[in-house]
Amino acid sequence: MTDLITLLTQAGHGGHGRVSFRREKYVPKGGPDGGRGGDGGHVIVRGASELATLNHFAGVREVHAEDGEIGGERKKIGSRGKNLVIEVPLGTTIWEIAENAVARRRQHRYGIERLMPRDEMPRETYEIEFGQGGVPGKQKDSLDWIIPAASYEDATLLTGKEFKSLKDGKQLVKLVEILEEGQEVVLCQGGLGGRGNEAFKSGALTTPRLAEYGTIGEQRVVVMEQRLLADVGLVGFPSAGKSTLLSVLTQARPKIAAYPFTTLEPNLGILSSTERPEHQAGLKTGVPELVVADIPGLIEGASDGKGLGIDFLRHIENTTVVLFVLALEETTIFDDSLTAEEKAEELWKQYEVLLGELQKHSPAMMEKSQQVSVNKIDVYPAELRAALQKLFVERGLNDLVLFSAATGEGMNELRSKLFEVHTQSSASEDSAGDLDPDAEEIPQ
Ligand code: GDP
Ligand code: MG
Repeated sequence: MTDLITLLTQAGHGGHGRVSFRREKYVPKGGPDGGRGGDGGHVIVRGASELATLNHFAGVREVHAEDGEIGGERKKIGSRGKNLVIEVPLGTTIWEIAENAVARRRQHRYGIERLMPRDEMPRETYEIEFGQGGVPGKQKDSLDWIIPAASYEDATLLTGKEFKSLKDGKQLVKLVEILEEGQEVVLCQGGLGGRGNEAFKSGALTTPRLAEYGTIGEQRVVVMEQRLLADVGLVGFPSAGKSTLLSVLTQARPKIAAYPFTTLEPNLGILSSTERPEHQAGLKTGVPELVVADIPGLIEGASDGKGLGIDFLRHIENTTVVLFVLALEETTIFDDSLTAEEKAEELWKQYEVLLGELQKHSPAMMEKSQQVSVNKIDVYPAELRAALQKLFVERGLNDLVLFSAATGEGMNELRSKLFEVHTQSSASEDSAGDLDPDAEEIPQ
């Protein structure tokens, strides 16, 4: 999984304007007819909902849009450089490490969402000696215009832009966040084509040997960071084993501890379809991977702002599937004064409290697909397991999954269930409009 990509992005330079004079039979002194250079192409970033990762940038160090063509004779305008569109998954944030002078000027004056107007582009003319025509040599390599990140300490004061510290102490400017399908941002604006000598003709200057350079295209060194949006959110009381489950289901390695609130930030892991038993059997489905989020423990009263609940709830709002992870404390399991039915009832109560919290926080949460599971069955006597299944079925929950993150029992079933539920919920999202608000009523 690649979720941080550093990339040099380079817009096309503008083509130079040409110095030339009309050459016609019987016309000894033709007027100036040097054409304008074409504009350079932009580098455009576009949000693509079908992309799940930034993996397509693996190994890519730089991207270039096309330069504009130089102006031609007989007033021919150079062709425009093609734009380069780079697609990124939704939830991608683009940070800037460095930029060249033109990029910096636009960013400071207009911000990344707007283009620099043509009349504010820095133009520079060149002159060609008598007897010559054409265009000057290649532009100076603009790479040395790149301004290193260190200077952004000052730039913060100027721009008031959001900054982010990296491990190496460098500061990054947040340029843009791509959140919507089709959202487009011109990351690097192409240079402007220079005017040819035809444009410099005047009464006083009938044979101008003057034309313009094309302007330099913007260059940026950016870091693209993919903030994974969770597909499945794990919901449960502290110590239910959510972190353990995530570490077993995915490659994530969250902190695991026997006391509450070990999870301060949501941990994410990728549950890959290659780990699915069906996939191993050669059955491919449309959903290759799921992002699973382990989030701070939900406690009673979380939606009133107690504990870490509110933050936690905000994180699972993005998910499409809520996985309830229930578990009994060992003291309860081995409490001889309770019958198996009473212990099962404890778990049902947990489920109800968790549901209540979700409902209180946002009714929209109740429209998400749900899966209920019970962890730590390695320590549950057979009698308790049976009582559990019976009770949940009686109350309308037929597909309760019992598992043990510790021994792996029931994990294959849980995996398949998650993919199944997610596929179903995605399908019902696609056919928007026929969502029945009563369809997911809490079973009583
Ligand atoms: P979280 O607060 O929900 O993230 O819970 P953790 O994953 O940190 O686990 C809490 C405790 O439960 C840890 O001591 C785990 O080792 C233990 N635990 C997790 N899964 C299982 C399991 O399947 N069986 C048993 N017996 N203990 C487990
Ligand atoms: Mg945890």
